[in-house]
Amino acid sequence: MSENHEYSGPIPDKSSLSLRGDCENCFGLCCASLPFAASADFAIDKDAGQPCHNLQSDFRCGIHTSLRQQGFRGCTVYDCFGAGQKVSQVTFGGHDWRQAPGSAKQMFEVFPIMWHLHELLFYLTEALALQPAQSIHDALRSALDETERLTLLSPDSLMELDVAAHRADVNALLLRTSELVRAEASRQQKNHRGRQKTYGRGADLVGANLRGADLRAANLRGAYLIAADLRGANLRVADLIGADFRDADLRGADLTESIFLTQAQLNAAKGDVNTKLPPSLTRPAHWSTL
Ligand code: SF4
Repeated sequence: MSENHEYSGPIPDKSSLSLRGDCENCFGLCCASLPFAASADFAIDKDAGQPCHNLQSDFRCGIHTSLRQQGFRGCTVYDCFGAGQKVSQVTFGGHDWRQAPGSAKQMFEVFPIMWHLHELLFYLTEALALQPAQSIHDALRSALDETERLTLLSPDSLMELDVAAHRADVNALLLRTSELVRAEASRQQKNHRGRQKTYGRGADLVGANLRGADLRAANLRGAYLIAADLRGANLRVADLIGADFRDADLRGADLTESIFLTQAQLNAAKGDVNTKLPPSLTRPAHWSTL
């Protein structure tokens, strides 16, 4: 699989399949490993390590085409960043947990660890494509190499990994990347009035009226934008890492050149044909029905 390659210099493509879920090569790990609670996003409770009752013997979802209608909206907004196929095909060498039930517990526990590592690979890959951050590209490349190396560890070594510490190191680089990119964007905005908008990590913007807001180069890291009205907002070069867009209204919003935006964030939001997206992301199918 493509995940086996070692990074060797050129800036990788963020949209490459190795950083996107490939269900064909995964043993249904997100559907077995992760817990969920009955809510607006999930119709049932499920414990971690308990395979979902909709997961078929071929590791396909039995209600894939009607997840939203059947109360499993949360499944449609999840992205494993390629961790599922990495664990299935590389870490466990293509031996699935139904054929080798003795490996199931460890495989289900390794999956969330791999998810964290692949999420970091996704962000680091994007950071390496951002020219204003060129001064730290060497550090970003080293972090990418190290993260890739960690994904190739054995199951036992992955279980012992201090993911939080590695994540903190990488996050410092991503934060610096964000500062460099947004500062450059602000310099280029000839008619930009005032300072970059900074809400701080985890800002509470739930239900906020941000219709038509000028959020260019804003820091929205981890902001809670649940059900916020962002219609027509300008979010170019805004840092959107970890922002919660559930039910946020992005119709007509401009997200081109926003940084650290994921497909899962988009899938959780509302939008339309007038929402402008970064080229590496795709318009969610359910937007066409809004
Ligand atoms: S409903 Fe389908 S996609 Fe969601 S956890 Fe169950 S099997 Fe997986």
